[in-house]
Parts: sequence; C-alpha cells; structure tokens
Amino acid sequence: MEKETWSPEETFALGKKLGEEAAPGEIFCLDGDLGVGKTVFTQGFAAGLGVTEPVNSPTFTILQIYEEGRLPLYHFDVYRIGDPEEMDEIGYEEYFFGDGVCLIEWASLIGELIPEGARRVLIEKDENKGFDYRRITLK
Ligand code: ADP
Ligand code: MG
Repeated sequence: MEKETWSPEETFALGKKLGEEAAPGEIFCLDGDLGVGKTVFTQGFAAGLGVTEPVNSPTFTILQIYEEGRLPLYHFDVYRIGDPEEMDEIGYEEYFFGDGVCLIEWASLIGELIPEGARRVLIEKDENKGFDYRRITLK
C-alpha cells in the first residue's frame, strides 16, 4: 500500500490508524532518512494504542517501553547502534517475540535480526512535491 501525506499531522494520523489496528506480536520496521517522519509516525501509532505520555526518539537508549496503551509498545531507534550484538545485550528477542508491538526506527541497520513477516514502512521525501510531502510505502 502506498500513501502520500502533505503534513506531519497526516503522517501522525496514518500511524494512529495502524496503532488502533495493531495486533500482539506485530513488528513494524521504519526506514527513511533522518528527519523524514519515522518518529512522527511512531507518535501517531502510540496515540492509536492509547499512549498519552510523550513519545520521542530514544536517541541514547535504543529502546523505550510504553505500557499504558492497549498493548505494550516497544519503540526502538537503532540509528546509533554500533554492532547488532548490542541488541542481544538489551534482550531484544523478548520484545520481538513477545505480545506487544515493536516499532523499529532504522530497522534496515539490523536487517539480519528482523523476523520474517515483519511489516515495512518506508518514508520518503520528494523535493519536487514540496517540503512537507512524504510518500509512505507499507508492506
Ligand atoms: P525521523 O524520526 O524520521 O528522523 P522525525 O519524525 O523526528 O523524523 O521528524 C520529521 C520532521 O519532518 C518533523 O519536524 C515534522 O514536523 C516534519 N514533517 C514535515 N512534513 C511531514 C510529513 N508529511 N510527515 C511527517 N513529518 C513531516
Ligand atoms: Mg526518529
């Protein structure tokens, strides 16, 4: 599925809809350049699960856990990961194969760890279509 958004609010709304529909054990891999909207999407997704606390990129922690929604949300940002072994150190399998939902920003950096059946969300800009335009491809 492909969706075009023209504002952060629209990307948030798409994330929110997917958060409302999310099922236990789902993994969403978010890819796209820095500043493209992966965190905005995640914020919407969290809202869709019923999370009310603020959601930001867990820049220094790799993983942020939100428990207050309909399902636990495990928000990874692996941008700064040096070695996939760091994922072992945080015990990622417990989250990937648990009953919550995982959202992984920069998932392609740990491609070898991503289980089959994970969902892909690719966000891209198109300079020709304006500053706030994003093409979001969901697989
Ligand atoms: P990432 O997590 O991918 O690095 P962020 O979500 O932190 O990116 O930041 C995206 C930035 O782009 C925000 O400042 C947001 O306001 C802006 N933006 C502009 N248009 C859009 C859009 N259509 N969708 C998402 N974000 C957008
Ligand atoms: Mg981010």
